[in-house]
Amino acid sequence: MRSILKVNWDSKLPIYAISQSELQKKGIHSLLLDVDGTLVNRKSNIIPKAVKNWIRESKKLFSLYLISNNPSKKRIAKIAKELNLKYKYNASKPRKNLTLSAIKEIGSEPKNIAIIGDRIFTDIIVGNRCNIKTILVKRLKRDGLPIKFNLTLTIEKFISHFVI
Ligand SMILES: [Mg+2]
Repeated sequence: MRSILKVNWDSKLPIYAISQSELQKKGIHSLLLDVDGTLVNRKSNIIPKAVKNWIRESKKLFSLYLISNNPSKKRIAKIAKELNLKYKYNASKPRKNLTLSAIKEIGSEPKNIAIIGDRIFTDIIVGNRCNIKTILVKRLKRDGLPIKFNLTLTIEKFISHFVI
């Protein structure tokens, strides 16, 4: 059980502070990106400028793919269109099916793919179940800055600590 909760890189950073060269050093060629909380605040559809810039730079180096549990095709398609990225919505992470089909579409070896997300019980678990690398980032507030205290993540880490 513990192994599916394993975070390869608990960055403690918002996604836009993740260093692309650090990702390259880890052998990563492709990134699956969570949307709500990771790229945008879940109650906002405005993509922070820092995120847009990070995506633009990352596209030069990696294949990117959005993978969201949000059931609203309208919301996720709009964000994907603005970033010009492929996407899956209603992905049911930590279930594997849609994440595996995104991995297949990307075509990289699993060891060269990482998922970046703000939650352990969805993003990290699905990444481990698909044998790809897992990166945890800080959740974004409405103003695009990372939240200081993430109650969900604190609870998830607390539970993870006691799961054997
Ligand atoms: Mg999220």
